[in-house]
Amino acid sequence: MRNAAVTGHPIGHSKSPLIHGYWLKQHGIEGSYIAQDVPPETAETFYGSLAKHGLVGCNVTIPNKEHAYKAAEKLDDAAKTIGAVNTLWLDEDGVLNGSNTDGLGFLGNLDQILPDWDNNGNKAIVLGAGGASRAIIWALLSRGFTEVYIANRTLEKAQKLADHFGPNTIAVSWDTLGETLGEADLLVNTTSLGMAGQPELTIDLNNLSKSAVVTDIVYSPLQTNLLREAKAQGNPSVDGLGMLLHQAVPGFEKWFGVRPHVTAELREMIVKEMGLT
Ligand code: NAP
Repeated sequence: MRNAAVTGHPIGHSKSPLIHGYWLKQHGIEGSYIAQDVPPETAETFYGSLAKHGLVGCNVTIPNKEHAYKAAEKLDDAAKTIGAVNTLWLDEDGVLNGSNTDGLGFLGNLDQILPDWDNNGNKAIVLGAGGASRAIIWALLSRGFTEVYIANRTLEKAQKLADHFGPNTIAVSWDTLGETLGEADLLVNTTSLGMAGQPELTIDLNNLSKSAVVTDIVYSPLQTNLLREAKAQGNPSVDGLGMLLHQAVPGFEKWFGVRPHVTAELREMIVKEMGLT
């Protein structure tokens, strides 16, 4: 029997056991996926001895993603560039591999909901310069976007990211966002604005082309103010729940040997469990 887990501290809130539990049952796999509390002080040691803990791999969430990055013996391109690991697995030689699947989750969601979204153009605006934005910028560059504008309340953080990701990324001030909007083929919110308990994200989308795709990685609530405004303007829009579901796919495949699908039934189950609206 192969066992995997989601690890972090605290871990009780994680929806990953529901997602992986659904796929284990759907595919009739005799395996398990549990939530395991791993305090940051012991995280690196824990990840360095997964087999001793009876695990073939795990997901990693707050606050352990950098610890997992350090513990991994082999990192893929996404993990290296993003600088954090959310998925670990032991390969056939017992080597601990690390990846960051958030960017793939972002792409998988858009590919599923709006299959031609990346034929729309090659200029994107990313709102936010926190942890999640790194995965989104990596994803957009990997899909061939040639101009990725990063707008953040704290401009220095956007500039630091632009320096890290290179000449196809441009830091822009939050105050001049209105002008930059006119350039965009894709607008994505990676700030925590709009999330339940946080202030709404309120930006004037007037300058945005009607064909620009608008997406939010905030998924609680499902319909953020940004997505409502985009719909009202007639822009194609995609919510962030699919990213959460799609980021889980590569880990399940590594641990259990089957590539699972993000189905409408899975989405409905999570929407119900989380009470999303
Ligand atoms: P983070 O590292 O804390 O970054 C927060 C970002 O929001 C920063 O850019 C911050 O700007 C900005 N921000 C916060 N309050 C603001 C305000 N009042 N006005 C303007 N900007 C503000 O958070 P994160 O880990 O990147 O996560 C961001 C969001 O993404 C969360 O809602 C999270 O749930 C969501 N997320 C979703 C998925 C998914 O699978 N769909 C995956 C990961 C994350 P400053 O730099 O100026 O502080």
